[in-house]
Amino acid sequence: MYSQHKSETLFSRGRKVIPDGVSSPMRAFALVGKNPICIASAHGSRITDVDGNEYTDFLNGFGTLILGHGPEKIVSAITQQAAKGTIFGLSTEVEYALAEKLVASTPAIEKIRFVCSGTEAVMTAVRIARCETGRNLLVKFNGSYHGHSDVLLASPVNLDRTATKNKGVTKGITAELNREVLLCEYNDRERLSEIFSEHGADIAAVVVEPYATNMGFVKSQPEFLRFIEKCCREHGALLIFDEVVTGFRINYGGACNSLGIDPDLVTFGKIIGGGAAIGAFAGKARYMDRVAIGNEVFQSGTFSANPLTMAAGNAALEILSQPGFYDGLEAKGAFLESKIKSAFAAKGIPFHFSRVGSLCGIAMRRDSTPMRSYKDVKTQDYELFRNLHSRMLEAGFLMPPSLEEPLFLSAAHSEDDLARFAEALSGNIVSLLAERQAAELQPA
Ligand code: PMP
Repeated sequence: MYSQHKSETLFSRGRKVIPDGVSSPMRAFALVGKNPICIASAHGSRITDVDGNEYTDFLNGFGTLILGHGPEKIVSAITQQAAKGTIFGLSTEVEYALAEKLVASTPAIEKIRFVCSGTEAVMTAVRIARCETGRNLLVKFNGSYHGHSDVLLASPVNLDRTATKNKGVTKGITAELNREVLLCEYNDRERLSEIFSEHGADIAAVVVEPYATNMGFVKSQPEFLRFIEKCCREHGALLIFDEVVTGFRINYGGACNSLGIDPDLVTFGKIIGGGAAIGAFAGKARYMDRVAIGNEVFQSGTFSANPLTMAAGNAALEILSQPGFYDGLEAKGAFLESKIKSAFAAKGIPFHFSRVGSLCGIAMRRDSTPMRSYKDVKTQDYELFRNLHSRMLEAGFLMPPSLEEPLFLSAAHSEDDLARFAEALSGNIVSLLAERQAAELQPA
């Protein structure tokens, strides 16, 4: 019998000393309407909770673990580095080696600096853009998430006192910062054009994910990204590609490589740290040199480029750079896609499945067309997803605890993992829809 008894007990202990019992809100499982599981260990494609339940993992550290849990080479790189020292407060060869790998990976970038989170990376990129342009306004896309700095959580929506429950809405940010953000719908060229016509001379930067991974999974239209690039060039604004999730997820380097876009600044995180805490901002030397001493933009960090993370990152990139690595991931993605699509077709499930490489999303709405913007995302059946998440846990599959996160595949997933997932997913959707229909037919 599936039980979360130990998780429940631990969680109630945690709640006494940590708000909501979690150090990052999505872990509270509030969006899937139940108490969360506490994890004991993980290996490869499997993650095990404190009750001993084993799940095939599609969360993978919110997209960090492209190699799955605990790859031997990374574990040994971390262990060897730990024996030599975990932090020196000074530079190391492993840091330079990782920087060289990253700069070589992505033609759009010439220099890079390490921080400890995606949040810090995007925050600093925006600071550079504001300094460089002498302008204040930042264009963001509705439904996006770029970390929890004031600058990136700022939004005109925060000025609306009734909008407390919307995504990314927070108090504690000055009205001035909130007014310095302009919101556009993802993939909406017309609106972006209006924004630039009206405010072009005051826009410091556009910050955008090359694929929207914080809305479930919404693909960008290539002409949309090219249009953003064009608007930025014409109006002297900087283009910041937030590749915290997409960097090294789609191909070796930034997704900008395969999309043929040349952003001014690129932010990385997650995958490049091999499972250790990381963020990085990178870009053209003339912008990056803004953070050199005397060049006006300040940025620092005690744990920035700490050797443990650098060792893990180097080990990860050595594996990712092997010929055929991304072809292998693409094959796994294609396999899952074919399994899910055929199961959906056989069972009459009307949901659209989107995928780029190992990044996938199911649009849980009765519409065979892909979602294009956050407006589309919001038309999904959130209640169905909440129930599905619980059923999938019981069936031994950990999905991200929000419909607004993608499914993350890893190189550790086997065909069997993926086939069983497609079967459980489609089976549970069918039963949940049938149960709902039966409940609706019950006389009141
Ligand atoms: N940018 C994007 C696109 C993200 O998805 C995230 C977090 N998932 C961040 C930035 C912030 O990264 P971190 O959680 O490491 O601060």
